[in-house]
Amino acid sequence: MADVDVIHEEAEQPQQTILVIEDEKSISQLVRLYLEQAGFRVVSAADGPSGLGLHTREQPALVILDLMLPGLDGWEVCRRIRQQGNTPVLMLTARQTEEDRIQGLDLGADDYVTKPFSPRELVSRVRAILRRATPATTEEPNAVLQYPGLSIYPAARRVEAQGQPVTLTAKEFDLLLLFARTPNTVFTREELLSRIWGYDYLGDSRTVDVHIGTLRKKIEQNPAQPRFIKTLYRVGYLFDPTAAQNGGGDA
Ligand code: CA
Repeated sequence: MADVDVIHEEAEQPQQTILVIEDEKSISQLVRLYLEQAGFRVVSAADGPSGLGLHTREQPALVILDLMLPGLDGWEVCRRIRQQGNTPVLMLTARQTEEDRIQGLDLGADDYVTKPFSPRELVSRVRAILRRATPATTEEPNAVLQYPGLSIYPAARRVEAQGQPVTLTAKEFDLLLLFARTPNTVFTREELLSRIWGYDYLGDSRTVDVHIGTLRKKIEQNPAQPRFIKTLYRVGYLFDPTAAQNGGGDA
């Protein structure tokens, strides 16, 4: 599905994806070049909101994150990535005061590289972080998520509701996966827009309601009384994994 080149040959080991969020094109290209030579698949974004969108869609093994970014700065992007899970973050920045370093690590960044940097060193830091992260994170991203009456297969992007396969659009699937991976967490419409649609759609929060509506029709037994995707009036939406069986109505 992704319009990114992937090497299919010699796939003894699945290729790990690195997300690079950096607005300076020359740096982004340099980092991509070195990472690809090292055998990684690279996806990149040039601003915070689209970086977060890619993080949700691609579930990268690691994020290389510039600090000074248009849209949302690196601190905020790091904070939101942390809300979604434990994807390792390597911060890349021109700043180098002790205070910045500490703030980055406080927000959950795993490492910190200051510009100018050696691309080779960057790659070896990436490898070191991945080695540390591997035991905890490798099998989780594609683990099947199962609830009474709902199964989500992330790797195949397939969903079954009440035992029957349902066809979701790409956005509906991304929404559902984000919800299911961060259960019992309230998302505002604006957060959902920036994570799933990226910055292009900011300001049009009706889009979210429409997609939630169609998603509910496909996965909920009774879309008028949703069990999984709950509405918090004037706040947003959350995913309820306990999904009490009694919401069906016409049994
Ligand atoms: Ca920058």
